[in-house]
Amino acid sequence: MITHFCLPASRRLPAVLCTFGLLLPLALGQDKDTAAVTNPPAHHGIAVENLDRSVQPGDDFYRYANGGWIARTEIPADRAGIGVFSILADRSSKNIAAIIEEAAKSKAPAGSNARKMADLYNAYMDEAAIEARGLKPLEPHLAEIAAIHTRHDLTVALGKTLRADVDMLNNAVFSTPNLFGLWVAPGFKDSDHYMPYLLQGGLEMPSRDYYLDQSQHMKDLRVEYYSHIATMLRLAGFEDSETRATRVIDLEHHIAEAHISLSDIEDIAKANNLWTRADFAEKAPGLDWDAYFEAAGLGQQKEFMVWTPTALTGEAALVASKPIEAWKDWLAVHLIESYANVLPHNLANEEFRFFGKIMSGVQQQRPRWQLGVNLVNADLGDAVGPIYAQKYFSPEAKAQAQAMVANLIAAYHKRIDQLTWLAPSTRAEAQAKLDSLYVGIGYPETWKDYSTYEVRSDDAFGNSWRASLWKYDSEIARIGKPVDRHEWSMEPQTVNAVNLPLQNALNFPAAILQPPFFDPEAPPVVNYGAIGAVIGHEISHTFDAEGSAFDSKGRVRNWWTPEDHAHFEQQAEKLEKQYDAYEPFPGIHVNGKQTIDENIADLGGISAAYDAYRASLNGAEAPEMGGFTGDEQFFIAFGQNWGSKAREAALRRQVLTDGHSPGEYRADIVRNIDAWYAAFLVKPGEKLYLAPDERVRIW
Ligand SMILES: [Zn+2]
Repeated sequence: MITHFCLPASRRLPAVLCTFGLLLPLALGQDKDTAAVTNPPAHHGIAVENLDRSVQPGDDFYRYANGGWIARTEIPADRAGIGVFSILADRSSKNIAAIIEEAAKSKAPAGSNARKMADLYNAYMDEAAIEARGLKPLEPHLAEIAAIHTRHDLTVALGKTLRADVDMLNNAVFSTPNLFGLWVAPGFKDSDHYMPYLLQGGLEMPSRDYYLDQSQHMKDLRVEYYSHIATMLRLAGFEDSETRATRVIDLEHHIAEAHISLSDIEDIAKANNLWTRADFAEKAPGLDWDAYFEAAGLGQQKEFMVWTPTALTGEAALVASKPIEAWKDWLAVHLIESYANVLPHNLANEEFRFFGKIMSGVQQQRPRWQLGVNLVNADLGDAVGPIYAQKYFSPEAKAQAQAMVANLIAAYHKRIDQLTWLAPSTRAEAQAKLDSLYVGIGYPETWKDYSTYEVRSDDAFGNSWRASLWKYDSEIARIGKPVDRHEWSMEPQTVNAVNLPLQNALNFPAAILQPPFFDPEAPPVVNYGAIGAVIGHEISHTFDAEGSAFDSKGRVRNWWTPEDHAHFEQQAEKLEKQYDAYEPFPGIHVNGKQTIDENIADLGGISAAYDAYRASLNGAEAPEMGGFTGDEQFFIAFGQNWGSKAREAALRRQVLTDGHSPGEYRADIVRNIDAWYAAFLVKPGEKLYLAPDERVRIW
């Protein structure tokens, strides 16, 4: 799973690249002309200059692999952090900017993708026009909210805000400011057809902990949040902004109480709830569901998958019990927040001050052109995609990446054959999953058709409004239709990778198949340690706690025996404890349970990548480079995937809300691999040392 870090509403966590997880909302920073950091490295292979050889690999492998880079790198003022992912994202961002510039110069005909990209970008860049329009674009929407007098009016208004803005399995987008979020995806039982899934929503801050946690840090944040909401309301022309802010926050507090935790959201068994329309009235009274669905354009839909049933129940009750005035203020605040980036400066700046500076520690806003690129990428990503793929991903690179994938899959086949803890029937289904796995490399086979998305060169607000509706309408039009298993969930220009469990498919976009992750000219051993471990990570999700819930056809079906589960749980618990012990801030530990799936994927990924690299040599040793053996290069390349620096606020947020561990601890997964001990002569007494029987082995 992963997220679009280029959501137009920049306040939201540029989500978390799940599956392979970007480490953070690493804002794409960087000025267009300071190209140094974004250029691909001149050399091929591991970055020796990034090492810190004063550190023992066995004491702190992450700093050994990245200490030199950490020492000389500063986090740019316009970012929450920096790392390999964000550096590659910068490069992709610059390339996309060039694509948009070319589109603008081409004088493409109205209605073409090129013209839409240019108009979307230019409308956003025309700050004078946005200032001149002032609050006008908001007026009709605020008037609709002001006209709410009854619970029925309120219900209709809530229904109209439903958007296709969450994604619980592929892109790990677990939050929406709307009452609920909709995801359209293959059904749990019938994975051949698309179903609507409903998720809890309604909060502006990233998760329930921000409202309920009693630590001083969170209490202070809530004081800031209150002043932020009051300011936004005042700037949008509301009187009594403080009274209104108090009401909104009280309502959000109650919504947070109804929410379930992130680790519960990730539990597929808890999400498997098929509700008929009659179930909604019975199980979640308080909201007139018929009116709600009718307003959402889903009046005809008979069944929904309800991901978070207790939260729906709790939130529906609040629609009945909380004052209509509070809900009206809440609707207004959520509207203004969602579109602040296409409204006058004072609103956009205040939105950034809270969500960028205070919540993530970013000191200054990114350059406008980059925000414009992000916007085009988010709303017209499949218009950019084919051009990007054609320009930046050669057929030779694609063939080489496909060969690596084939070797990784072969390595998993062998590993699974040799796993004694899995029952024979389970092993057979695991092999079947590998056989039917669709692995997309570089770019998709089909592209979205934007012909019904209207873009105007002078209407930044309207463009964003229509983009969100266009996406929603396109998604709900898919409900009930046959599933395309080869459909992608990520654009080629996105620096990430993803596992799509309901399609039994993986996507590796062109933008992650770039140095240092993947360099067709680097020694193969380095590619195996870097991108090979990423590919292995994604494949591993096919069999993990999440993957064990989906069979080779993508259906939700438990194909493990109770004994398989028992053994798996026991090993997983060992790994949970390993991660629980990591303490990025005094008193703040990594949450082993919340990050278990990703940590297991990292472990499986590097194990299989190591086997694949060894198998590719047919028993020979990889050539030494710069005094490093093949195995040393392999592990260093892996460790260098995770080189990153983050601001404290952003790192705290990641620890609380992300399914991935911070990069440092992802690098340290090597302590479970025997070959790492041999490669670096790691001895008992060194900090990362684990005795052979303490090392976790799962896949
Ligand atoms: Zn993952």
